Amino acid sequence: MSQNPNLEQALKYYFGYDNFRLGQRQIIEQALQNRDLMIVMPTGGGKSLCFQLPALLKKGLTVVVSPLIALMQDQVEALRDNGIAATFLNSSLNAHKVRSREEYILTGKVKLLYVAPERLLSERFLPFLDLVHHQIGISAFAIDEAHCVSEWGHDFRPEYRQLKSLRKRYPDIPVLALTATATERVRADIIQQLGLKQPSIHIASFNRTNLYYEVRSKTKYAYAQLLELIRETEGSAIIYCLTRKKVDELTLKLQHDKISVLPYHAGLTDEERTKNQTRFIRDDVRVMVATIAFGMGINKPDVRLVIHFDISRNLESYYQESGRAGRDGELSRCTLFYSYGDVKTIEFLINQKPDPQEQLIAKHQLRQMIDYTEGTDCRRTIQLGYFGERFSGNCGNCDNCRYPKPIEDWTIEAMKFLSCVARCKERFGMGHIIDVLRGGKTQKITQYEHDKLSTYGIGKDKTVDEWRILGRSLLHQGLLEQTADGYAVLKLNALSWEVMRRQRTVSIAVPTVQKITWGDDNEKAAEIELLLQRLRALRKQIADAQSVPPYVIFADSTLKLMAQVKPQTLNEFSKLSGVVSQKVSSYGEKFLAEIRAYRQEQGLLEENSTPFFGLPSETELLTLQLHQQGFSVTEIAAKRNLRPTTIIRHLSDLIEKNQSVDFNLLVPVEKQQKILQVLDILGDISLTPIKEYLGDNYSFDEIRLVRGKWRRESNKG
Ligand code: ADP
Ligand code: ZN
Repeated sequence: MSQNPNLEQALKYYFGYDNFRLGQRQIIEQALQNRDLMIVMPTGGGKSLCFQLPALLKKGLTVVVSPLIALMQDQVEALRDNGIAATFLNSSLNAHKVRSREEYILTGKVKLLYVAPERLLSERFLPFLDLVHHQIGISAFAIDEAHCVSEWGHDFRPEYRQLKSLRKRYPDIPVLALTATATERVRADIIQQLGLKQPSIHIASFNRTNLYYEVRSKTKYAYAQLLELIRETEGSAIIYCLTRKKVDELTLKLQHDKISVLPYHAGLTDEERTKNQTRFIRDDVRVMVATIAFGMGINKPDVRLVIHFDISRNLESYYQESGRAGRDGELSRCTLFYSYGDVKTIEFLINQKPDPQEQLIAKHQLRQMIDYTEGTDCRRTIQLGYFGERFSGNCGNCDNCRYPKPIEDWTIEAMKFLSCVARCKERFGMGHIIDVLRGGKTQKITQYEHDKLSTYGIGKDKTVDEWRILGRSLLHQGLLEQTADGYAVLKLNALSWEVMRRQRTVSIAVPTVQKITWGDDNEKAAEIELLLQRLRALRKQIADAQSVPPYVIFADSTLKLMAQVKPQTLNEFSKLSGVVSQKVSSYGEKFLAEIRAYRQEQGLLEENSTPFFGLPSETELLTLQLHQQGFSVTEIAAKRNLRPTTIIRHLSDLIEKNQSVDFNLLVPVEKQQKILQVLDILGDISLTPIKEYLGDNYSFDEIRLVRGKWRRESNKG
């Protein structure tokens, strides 16, 4: 195959990127040879470039079929902001606008035209397309979200079926089909339905290396954990719930906790949904709590966190939904909260399905989902295996790889648990069994005289949560049953008796609570972060003035580079990845001015800014100054245009570094003592378990601050 060295130049010229992603170059070369192509790449893989760059390099117009108006508008906006002639035709335009756009297309100046499939095939549009074909030429048809053509996919759209007629009408114009759907069956269907001619098939790996996957059990502290995750995340988050009701409840709770959040579900009016979605995309609001109605067609590239607060129905949905994080390739996090109760809810829904065959498939898929959540193997290995892709080894970026769960032999505990179920005559649910095991004094226990049973109080050595983990695991492993009548009464089966007779051992993976940080703790990162905040604010200001989402102006990765490199001239600025000449002239000066201002403000400190561990960083010193002038955390945050948690982090690090912080002003003395005690017991661990221990009266901020003090004290000793 001929190597085309100019492709890199074209990439930089039109899109500002320095390198192609894996696969892109070869696909583009083949597109330039007018081959039919089938392109399967995960979300965020960089599919659009595969037809956009050839469109710019070839003669004529590339027609892009896209199913969603919002998606079309997004892409066209982003292209135009790069100085590329693109336009769309859809039902949002009036007849007059349509006509003037059509005329403009016939001048030959437009390189990319986005249309909805129903318009493409309409009586009125086809003659226009013929005209384009004759006068300026059609360079290709790109069918985006091509899986919509298949009934086996999850978004079948009948109008996609008719796209085959394009092939008949224009047999020589190449067709590119693009999708993120990974299943074999859908792929075959696309090729057949669209009538692709000996297509070159490109299937990229579905491994999204920039996503951190984790599963947490949904204990009563789940909400506190959720809150901590949101607060610790810099950037947008999506939280998925199973039902509208849960969406509404969680939204209210988060609003109450001062999180910038909006709901999204099918119960809202179209208008409300569009409004909420736009506010999310434009970064007016940071968190979206939603049912799975939200997502298709959201190509916001800078979502940093996707939480499933309820389990997904199947792994494919989970992969797609969680995959909305980090489309721009930056590190992002996908957290799933798992509870057996949610499994029961989904099972209940499945049982409502009229078709027994469908029920069976759905149950099987749910089972795979449960296996994923309970699995102790690498999460990536399990996910990719589902798509027929082999991955093995330690990925280093999932909870199971980073924090392997210890597998423990809990046979004795299982025997205690099961015999307690037996003694209670298989008539009670898990809560009561655990109360009996732990020697509780509930009314129910007195009423049934369960305090007289031999199993009463034999499980005081384990916490309620530990017993629950065991109980759930017994259920999942099929060593115990639970009625599905809504009462969830525990029942024994043949396997339970094998355990009780010591014919079978029981192992369980004991979950540990973890916390990850992405290196933002070191000095340099904090300094970059400070500038980044200002650049973000500037980007938002410019985006608002133009009514476009901030990512259209610059991607997060480009802003980060800017904060790291701190360009001083337009020439340096234009070299950043993601910057094209149009952006240099539109925004260059503004961003350079911001960087200059920042340098000046930091100027004094810059000379002696040896990043030395143990000495406060520049940003921490600024916080310290304001603190010593008597400003509160909120005031400092407002003054510095930083989030309060960031200020708290500065202060706790300052304490740790032995700077004079007026500690009693920040945390009441009684609370300090209690937290110090707990730290002495639990040791230097992450905040969540400490908070779990202390309960609702203690905030993460307070604990973080006292931990700083505690660390300082223990360093001395
Ligand atoms: P997909 O349609 O496959 O989900 P996109 O085409 O929207 O993905 O691309 C995802 C992100 O990656 C976009 O922000 C895009 O600008 C960026 N991108 C694509 N190709 C490159 C590249 N070669 N270098 C850097 N960024 C890229
Ligand atoms: Zn892993």
